[in-house]
Amino acid sequence: MTAQIKSLLLDERLPRLEVRMLLEHVLAKPRAWLLAHDTDPLTPETATAYEALAQRRLAGEPMAYLVGQREFMGHVFRVTPDVLIPRPDTEVLVETALECVAGLAAPAVLDLGTGSGAIAISIALARRDARVMASDVSAKALAVAAANAWDLTASLRFVEGSWYDAVPAGEGFDLIVSNPPYVASDDPHLGQGDVRFEPRGALTDEADGLQDLRRIVAGAPRHLKAGGSLWMEHGWDQAEAVRALLTGAGFDDVHSRHDLAGIERISGGRWPGHR
Ligand code: GLN
Repeated sequence: MTAQIKSLLLDERLPRLEVRMLLEHVLAKPRAWLLAHDTDPLTPETATAYEALAQRRLAGEPMAYLVGQREFMGHVFRVTPDVLIPRPDTEVLVETALECVAGLAAPAVLDLGTGSGAIAISIALARRDARVMASDVSAKALAVAAANAWDLTASLRFVEGSWYDAVPAGEGFDLIVSNPPYVASDDPHLGQGDVRFEPRGALTDEADGLQDLRRIVAGAPRHLKAGGSLWMEHGWDQAEAVRALLTGAGFDDVHSRHDLAGIERISGGRWPGHR
């Protein structure tokens, strides 16, 4: 008897869901197809392709890079090793961003260090009238973000450069958001699990973890309209320090919000003045 597709589903080296996701990816078929065709003959090509991915997974590569995509805010984003994999924890940043601009028509929004574009594109899709600009220092990351914008039919402007260097002079924003690298260079977390395969420059500032957050806060007043807001994601133990940066720079209404794990994950404030 020839082998059937379902023989691969019995692979006990990996969690069942991962086996299924890898197989769906190799076959380029959705879950429903797999359910109905699990007794189809297993071709040698499929078996070989599956095994190659299984080996990479067993060596620690993140699922999102193996299948080339990850869902965020209900949208499927393509991801490559040039970009950070979108995290569910970051959805609170998007939700907060959308609340900030809820009462504004055609808000101008800036996402610094956009990576896959997950944050900027999710905002642009939820607010079709928004004028969203997204920056990154990495041209490779911007190529991924631009492909995502195209696939998801979001329209936004991409600019290349380090933080505010990328932003054309004279642009004023109602909202600036960022999920910058905030892991300290000596954090052992960088050597563990999925993050080992992510771009180091998206994870750590190669300093104390607050370096880029400081830069983003310091430059925001020059780029925010009066009454505009700045919100940043940060590490589990950085909320107090980031609130102090915001207060010290003159922001009002400075506060933090929790992620799904109950950790203070984002902090932000409002630049004084009336719109
Ligand atoms: N939250 C990520 C992690 O802990 C870090 C993301 C970031 O630096 N922006 O791996």
